[in-house]
Amino acid sequence: MAQYIRSVRGMHDILPGDSARWHWLEARVRRLVASYGYREIRMPVVERTELFKRSIGEVTDIVEKEMYTFEDRNGESLTLRPEGTAGCVRAGIEHGLLHNQQQRLWYMGPMFRHERPQKGRYRQFHQIGVEVFGIAEPEVEAELIAMNARLWRELGIEDVRLEINSLGSPQSRAEYRERLVAYFRRHEADLDEDSRRRLDTNPLRILDSKHPDMQALIAGAPSLLDHLDLDSQAHFDALCAMLDEMAIPYRVNPRLVRGLDYYTRTVFEWITGSLGAQGTICAGGRYDGLVAQLGGRDTPAAGFALGIERLLALMRPAEDLAAADAPHAFLVPVGEGTLHRALALAEALRRDVPGLRLQTNLGGGSFKAQLKRADRSGAPYALLLGEDELAQGTLGFKPLRGQGAQETLALEAVAERLALLVSEEREATGLDA
Ligand code: ATP
Ligand code: MG
Repeated sequence: MAQYIRSVRGMHDILPGDSARWHWLEARVRRLVASYGYREIRMPVVERTELFKRSIGEVTDIVEKEMYTFEDRNGESLTLRPEGTAGCVRAGIEHGLLHNQQQRLWYMGPMFRHERPQKGRYRQFHQIGVEVFGIAEPEVEAELIAMNARLWRELGIEDVRLEINSLGSPQSRAEYRERLVAYFRRHEADLDEDSRRRLDTNPLRILDSKHPDMQALIAGAPSLLDHLDLDSQAHFDALCAMLDEMAIPYRVNPRLVRGLDYYTRTVFEWITGSLGAQGTICAGGRYDGLVAQLGGRDTPAAGFALGIERLLALMRPAEDLAAADAPHAFLVPVGEGTLHRALALAEALRRDVPGLRLQTNLGGGSFKAQLKRADRSGAPYALLLGEDELAQGTLGFKPLRGQGAQETLALEAVAERLALLVSEEREATGLDA
C-alpha cells in the first residue's frame, strides 16, 4: 500500500466499531461535569507557539522535544496544542471571562505531542480538561478530585490510586530549589544527560525523570514537603482533611512535580497499575500564577486533564456498547413503487420518533439480499414495505433477533413501537443522547 495510505505514526483513526465507546464515555463525562456546574469551552487546535513556551515552560519535555511547531504562511510560528490549559487561559483572558469572576470550564479534544508511540502514548491523543478560575481555597482541588473519583466509580474503574503533593509558593519553591541543586551537585556524576542540563535550568524537573537509573538518587533527594511555606502547608493540610472527610484515599508523594512549569501548591495524579508504564490516567493541580504570567489580572486557578485513550483502555469492553449505535430498525422496500414511499415514510418516522435510528435500504436488491443487510446492520427489527403493505398503508414488523413472529401494523402502531424502543434504551443507558 502506498505510504500516503497509512495514517501518520502515532495518530490513529477511531473506526466506526470503536466510536460507540468514545461516545458513551463522552456522554458520561458531559453529564458528570454538568452535575458540578461546569460549562464547555471549545478552543482552536492551533495557538501561537509563544503561548505554550510562556505557560508550559521553556525547559520542559513538551516544549523542548514534543511540540508540533510550524511556520504559518505569514511567517508566524504556530503550534498544534500539546495540552488545553494554555489555550483555555488565553481564551479566558481574551474574552474577559476570568477577572472578578468564578468560572468552571471544561473541554475535550485532540492534543498533539511528538513522543515515542507505544501502548497508551500517542502523537495525537485526546484529553478531557477541567479548569476552575477565581477561587484560591483548597476546596476547589477537593471538588476536582471528588469529581475524578466519582467518574472512576461510574465507569467501573477500580484499579486506580491517587497521589498528591504540594509544590508550595514560588518563594518556598525557590528556597527548596537551592537545596535540591546542592544535593544533585554532590551526585553530579550519577545524573543522566537531561538531568545534568536541567540542574542549571530547571532542577525540579529532575524529580520528574522517568530514567530508571535515576530513581534511587531521586528517592534520596530532599523533600518538597519539608520546605513548604506556612500558607501552603495550611492549604495542603486542609485539602487532605477534606479528602479524608469524603473518604477518598490518597498517598502523599513528595517527589511528585508534574511535567509542566505552571503548577503552584497542589499537584495530583491518578495512577493505575493495569496499563504498564503509561499508568497515569489523569493529572492536575493548582496554577495560581499562570493567568498573571500570561498577561491577565492575578487569578487563582486549578484544573486537571485526563487521557481518554488510557481511560478507555482501562474500561472493561462492554458487549452491549458495540451495538449502541446500531439502528433500531431497517426499512426494506420490495416491489413496484415502494422505494419512493419508503423514503417519505422514513422521514415521517424520524420526525415523529425523536432519537430514532432508522436505516433505509438504498441501492435496491432482492428481498433476501435486503434482509441480509438488515441483519448485518445490527437492527433488532426490519420494517417490510411490499406492494400489499403499500396498498393497505401498513408495514410488516419483523423481529430480527430472537423468536417473535412477524406482524402487520398500521403506521401509527409502528411509530409507537419504535418510540417505546427508544425510550427503553434511554432508560437502560441512563443517558439522553
Ligand atoms: P506522561 O507522564 O504519561 O507523559 P504527562 O505528565 O505528560 O503524562 P499531562 O500533560 O499531565 O501528561 O496530561 C494529562 C494526561 O493526558 C496524562 O495523565 C495522560 O493520561 C494523558 N496523556 C498525556 N500524554 C499522552 C500521550 N502522548 N498519549 C496518550 N495520552 C497522553
Ligand atoms: Mg508526557
